[in-house]
Amino acid sequence: MSALLEVRELSVEYPSARGVVKAVDRISFTIGRGEIFGLAGESGCGKSTTAFGICRLLRPPARLAGGSVRLDGVELTALPEDEFDKLRWAKLSIVLQSAMNNLNPVMTIRKQLTDAILAHEPDAASAADARAAELMKLVDLPADRLNSYPHELSGGMRQRVVIAMAMALKPSLVIMDEPTTALDVVVQHGIIRKMMELQRRFGFSILFITHDLPLMLQMCDRIGIMYAGKLVETAPASRILKEPKHPYTQGLLDSFPALSGEKRRLTGIPGHPPDLIRPPAGCRFQPRCRRAMPPCLSVEPALLPDRDGLGKVACHLYGEEEGAREQASAASE
Ligand code: SF4
Ligand code: MG
Repeated sequence: MSALLEVRELSVEYPSARGVVKAVDRISFTIGRGEIFGLAGESGCGKSTTAFGICRLLRPPARLAGGSVRLDGVELTALPEDEFDKLRWAKLSIVLQSAMNNLNPVMTIRKQLTDAILAHEPDAASAADARAAELMKLVDLPADRLNSYPHELSGGMRQRVVIAMAMALKPSLVIMDEPTTALDVVVQHGIIRKMMELQRRFGFSILFITHDLPLMLQMCDRIGIMYAGKLVETAPASRILKEPKHPYTQGLLDSFPALSGEKRRLTGIPGHPPDLIRPPAGCRFQPRCRRAMPPCLSVEPALLPDRDGLGKVACHLYGEEEGAREQASAASE
């Protein structure tokens, strides 16, 4: 079965006083139907920019500098704005970090939910109110909260409303960018559990973005690791946890407490990410990589299928030849 979302060679850049910042540089990945795919990496690595590029929420001067985004076979980058508006919410919805960025502060929750429904289904006027109440029930909020304004709700309740809105038209893909970051831990867990329950029930795909790698490893089927605007590894979450291949992925895992088992010292990664205006030649991780070799200084490693065929990795340690051989068998992905 073909993938639901196919991102190919996506690039996002923006001008700055010192030159063009390549925030996302030719990244490619797919998300299957019903799959939960996570993007992880340090802040500034391009995770959110990738998500905003996919759902056309880039704020100028940031702009799409190339590549393709296909959702269910439809090329999103080429769609006229009004055509894209028809897909938003109906096929693709977005849950952002702060509910305040998703909700209109001067409209009641009822108005916002019913407007979202009616924008796509103008004939649903008589049923919209009942559907808004159903959506509240879906996220365990009392129906009388429909009369509230966003500021009258707690942060966790607001985020539940946003999730209800995202579900309103049964989209096939929900993009979640740090959906629980602003909330306290107990509220976070409740929201994550709710999202997972809804995902199992309705079967939509999720593009999940967080800097919380342990949470991502629990939630996601597959994970992509980004570094300095590049995708450096993709693999099933279980493989990333047990056998991370890219030295950056290994360093990232070492900088989090173990999910289970022995306590260990957190090491982190020395140094800091490179300048995205003039990134280093060869591998961008090379200035921080303990395993760097001469080719890493001049040849950029391509993201190629790894030996076990489960994932892809962009690192010279795994040999281009081996990768190229495997590529033919994994090309069906
Ligand atoms: Fe390290 Fe070289 Fe691999 Fe880059 S390509 S991660 S520098 S070993
Ligand atoms: Mg971000």
